[in-house]
Amino acid sequence: MDYLPIFLNIREQRCLVIGGGEVATRKAAMLIRAGARVHVVSHEISPALKANLETHQGSYRLGSYEPADLNDVAIVIAATDDEALNRRVHADCRTRQLPVNVVDAPALCSFVFPSIVDRSPLVIAVSSAGKSPVLARLLRAHLETTIPAAYGRLADICGEFRGLAKQTFPDTNARRAFWEKELQGRFAELVYAGREEEARTHLRDAFAASGPAQAGEVYLVGAGPGDPDLLTFRALRLMQQADVVVHDRLVSAPVLDLCRRDAEFIHVGKARADHTLPQEDINHLLVRLAKDGKRVCRLKGGDPFIFGRGGEEIEELAAAGIPFQVVPGITAANGCSAYAGIPLTHRDYAQSVRFVTGHLKDGSPELPWSELIHEQQTLVLYMGLVGLDSICHQLIAHGMAADMPVALISQGTRPDQMVVTGTLADIAGKVVESGIKAPTLTIIGRVVALREKLNWFNA
Ligand code: SAH
Repeated sequence: MDYLPIFLNIREQRCLVIGGGEVATRKAAMLIRAGARVHVVSHEISPALKANLETHQGSYRLGSYEPADLNDVAIVIAATDDEALNRRVHADCRTRQLPVNVVDAPALCSFVFPSIVDRSPLVIAVSSAGKSPVLARLLRAHLETTIPAAYGRLADICGEFRGLAKQTFPDTNARRAFWEKELQGRFAELVYAGREEEARTHLRDAFAASGPAQAGEVYLVGAGPGDPDLLTFRALRLMQQADVVVHDRLVSAPVLDLCRRDAEFIHVGKARADHTLPQEDINHLLVRLAKDGKRVCRLKGGDPFIFGRGGEEIEELAAAGIPFQVVPGITAANGCSAYAGIPLTHRDYAQSVRFVTGHLKDGSPELPWSELIHEQQTLVLYMGLVGLDSICHQLIAHGMAADMPVALISQGTRPDQMVVTGTLADIAGKVVESGIKAPTLTIIGRVVALREKLNWFNA
C-alpha cells in the first residue's frame, strides 16, 4: 500500500486552504461537508467560496501566505498555481508535521484525496495513489451505479439500533449473523423501498424474537424485453439475493444469467398451446415457496403489470399474507420501439398510444375495433403472429387507411432482433416471407414511417 487509508475527523477543526480559485473552492467545499471550519488565505477569492465560508463558520484573509497561517490548523491544502509558494507551504508543513495536500503535485503531498462515493454515513474512498486518478474515478462511477442510494439511510438506521443489538446479542458472532441476515433481507428491502418506519418495526420485532427464522417473501420483478442492460438496479439486486427464481418463457437467457448462481430456477413458461404450469398453479407455487421461508424472485418478461398477470399473482400473495414487492420493468412496447427507432408518440403524428392484446376466438382475434381507429393514435399489439392477417383486414374494414404503416418487431432488444415494415394492406404477406420468429410485437401508426430517419439499431 502506498498510502494508509484513514477517515479523519475534522469536525469543528480549523483547516487551512491556500488559494481562492475554482480548485480551492471545490476542496474547501469538501472540507466543509466533513464539518470543518475552513480558513482561506488568498489574494482573490471566488464568490462561491466566499458564500460557502460565510454560511459555514469559515473565514478568510485576503493577502499572501505566511507561516503563521499554519498555527492551530488540523490540515492544509495548497491550491495555487504558484509553484514556489506550493513548495514553501509543503516545507513549512513538514517542519510542523502538519498533514498537507498540494493540488496536482503528489510529491508535495503527505495525504491525497480519494475519489469518493458518498452515501453518508457510508463513504467509500478509492485511490490509485495518484498513479491514475481517471481509473479511480471510473471505478468510483462504477460503484456509484451499483450501490443503492438508500445505503446511507440503511447505515443510519442500523446506527439507531446499535445499543439494542449489543444488548440482545452480547456475543459478537451472533450479532454479526443477525445483521448479515437483516442487511440482505426484509429490513434492507423495506429501507430501499422507502418504508423506514416499517423497517424499524421489523427490526424491533426481529430483536424481540432474537433472531427469528427468515420470513419468506416474493419479488415480482419486471425483467424487460430481453437486453439485460434494460434491467433496473432494484431488479438486479433482488435477482441476486433470491433463493428461488420463478421465470417464464419471455425472460431472456442473458437476464437469467444475472440471477444468483446457486438459486433454484423454476421455469413456468407459457408458450402458446403449451402451458407449462397453469396460472393458479403458479400462484400457489409462489405462496408455498414463500411459506417455506424462501425469498422468491418471480421474474416476468417486460413489466409485470402490463399483460403479465402480475395483478393476479399478488392478489393471491396478499390473501395469503405473504410480503411482496413489485419492481417495474421496461415493457416490450418501450423496448421494441426504442430499439427499432419508432417513437410511440410524436407531436405531428400521434398524440396517444394504446397497448392492446387480444384473445383468439375460433382462430380470429377479438378486439374493440371501432375504438382502435384513430388517425393520431399509435397501436401496439402484444400478440403473436397468429391472427395478424385478420387484424389488418378488420382494421381496414372498420375504416383505418390501408396504407397505414405497420412494423413487426421480433425478438425486440435482443441480438437477433428483426423488424419487418409494411402497410396494413401488405404486412401479413411480408411477415410470412420473412420467416420471423416469436416473440413479436406489432406497431401500427404513422410514427412507423419515422423509422427510416430515426433508426439507429442495426436490425
Ligand atoms: N409483460 C410483458 C408482456 C407479456 S405479453 C411486457 O410488459 O412486455 C407477451 C407478448 O409481449 C408477446 O406475445 C409479444 O407480443 C410481446 N413481447 C414480449 N417481449 C418481446 C420482445 N422481446 N420482442 C417482441 N415482442 C415481445
